[in-house]
Amino acid sequence: MMLGEKVSSPPQRTPATQVMVSGQGLLSVLEAMSLIESHARKILASHGLDPIDGAQWYPFRNALDAFKVITERIGPSTMKSIGRKLLEHVRFSSANLSLEEALASLDSVYRICHRGPGYIGKYVFESTGARSAQVTTDNEYMCELDEGLLEALSERFKPPGALWVRVVHKPGSCRKQGNTTCTYEVSW
Ligand SMILES: [Zn+2]
Repeated sequence: MMLGEKVSSPPQRTPATQVMVSGQGLLSVLEAMSLIESHARKILASHGLDPIDGAQWYPFRNALDAFKVITERIGPSTMKSIGRKLLEHVRFSSANLSLEEALASLDSVYRICHRGPGYIGKYVFESTGARSAQVTTDNEYMCELDEGLLEALSERFKPPGALWVRVVHKPGSCRKQGNTTCTYEVSW
């Protein structure tokens, strides 16, 4: 999939009132906030997300609203740790994927725990060099959540022989600034 067309002409965002997120994803949030789990539970419950069953589906809109409250009250670093935690629950097609394959499969992984009807957003992978790639997303989650998710993914699928994998938010478009997309550059 080419990046350019997706970014230059993002699909019309329609209110995703019927988009759903899996209970398993929400349970990961509670786990990521284990030190303040009762507080997190209260915030989710106040958005109608209680009880949470890993086998059920919940309104994405409610989850997003709850996440915004969590970010406001507890801070963006919590969103980053939630993103990292979410990756622990992600099942990739193989444990032996290359970093590029893992980054490229993020979109299909996202589709396992989010479903329509309605536009749910996507992850677009682009190789930018022998040891670099970038991922652009227009999902409605917080920028920091995806940053944590990509950092954890990069650690899990670090190429053999690579000393480090760096994840950097590309300057410019950012959802925090009201733009539709964030792009993360990954290099190793
Ligand atoms: Zn951003």
